[in-house]
Amino acid sequence: MAVDGTGPDLLIRGGTVVTAAGSRRADVSVRGGAIDLVEDDLGAMAATAREVLDATGLLVLPGCVDVHTHTRVASDDEPDRFYQDSLAAAFGGTTTFLAFNNPGTGSSPAAHRSIRAGVDEFRRVTANDSAVDFALSPAILGGMDDRLSELPAMVDAGVPTAKAFMVFDFRLPAPSIFEALRILGERGGMLEVHCEDPVLIDAAVASALQHGDTSPRHHAATRSVEAEAVATHRVMAFARATEAPVHVVHLSCAAAMRHLAEARATGVRATGETCPHYLALTEARYDEPDPVECAKSMISPPLRPAADRDALWAGLAAGDLSLVATDHVADRVAVEKGGAARGIPFDRISNGAPGIETLLSIVYGLGVATGRISRERMVDLVATTPARRFGLARKGAIEPGRDADLVLFDPEARRTIRQADLHHTSDYTPYEGVEVTGAVRSVFVRGRAVVRDGRATDDRGWGRFVERGSAGG
Ligand SMILES: [Zn+2]
Repeated sequence: MAVDGTGPDLLIRGGTVVTAAGSRRADVSVRGGAIDLVEDDLGAMAATAREVLDATGLLVLPGCVDVHTHTRVASDDEPDRFYQDSLAAAFGGTTTFLAFNNPGTGSSPAAHRSIRAGVDEFRRVTANDSAVDFALSPAILGGMDDRLSELPAMVDAGVPTAKAFMVFDFRLPAPSIFEALRILGERGGMLEVHCEDPVLIDAAVASALQHGDTSPRHHAATRSVEAEAVATHRVMAFARATEAPVHVVHLSCAAAMRHLAEARATGVRATGETCPHYLALTEARYDEPDPVECAKSMISPPLRPAADRDALWAGLAAGDLSLVATDHVADRVAVEKGGAARGIPFDRISNGAPGIETLLSIVYGLGVATGRISRERMVDLVATTPARRFGLARKGAIEPGRDADLVLFDPEARRTIRQADLHHTSDYTPYEGVEVTGAVRSVFVRGRAVVRDGRATDDRGWGRFVERGSAGG
């Protein structure tokens, strides 16, 4: 009860509060942007609360924490693109997202030479430009002047995670990945690794191009399950030798998951993430004869056979995988993927697909509603574990003292995902026409409504850059 005699800012009554540990019908009071009380009946506060919301029949979920996005920052030509994607996150039930600043996200050449410069630049250009809270995991790029010496200061400045790519032209050489793991681990940070073997991938791409196999579907054929599995295995060995935490991003197949599970079972401090596209879609998308349609699913790693999709769901349920994040890239068919229509070879077409707005839709709709995972496990996968693992101590759970990042979710609503209904900056969704159960109704970030009854409340700038604590927990 209120100790100062005044009521709470917000009282959410009658919903089913879902946490990773369990669900119960409960009232939630919010004060000063934080969760104040979670009790069976806070009806006595209703008269003095500034606002009372009836959540009867709804789930009250902690806002999703999407730790994998390539959200583009504002540019002169597209001044709204960061804000617009942050708003799309809110519409989807995500109240905190992490962005990478790799080339292609609007980061400058200076940010590609220095991690420190990249962090400073990101904070400057995103200030007051997000609807929800956000943070940065800087990319450690192979072309940086000094790849590793800035890492300890980054951790101390509230940026405890960083990402290394084993492939692409900004790849980090293996010895630097090893050192980055060690340095971050010693300081309370954690390295994230894109695991694909560069030797196998480069050889397959070169061979395909040489044979004239240049259309988008050959992108997938050049990125084998084996290339992902062997890279994952190697990174597990690096993590074991350095005794450092490591996070495997966008794991797509059973073979890689087995290496992760084996390492975890023997004490390696590793977590794995998969993404909604690997849970919803399969490589059948690459049978599409239209290269433009194929290019929509050009992602790395690529979509896999149905057996891998099913194995990933089982891995999420069993605990071999620890979280789901989107790998959001707001590519547009008309722009970044435009080369597909003109016959440009696949190695020169942007990799990625949008997803920042559809995380909860897919994980609830295709996971919880179908019985593949429980709703409590879902909350753990999209909120609680990502928050803990990435050093967001105030996020990811509904309990007193945490930020009041809350989603009111209708578990019975049925809808069809359509690009026309989405808010992201992409011009398509890979989930066009997918029917799902469940719909986001209202979204609160630190107690303030950002989406209310399905409508934005125009809160540009409410989202804050979050300085994080230790990661890898
Ligand atoms: Zn990514």
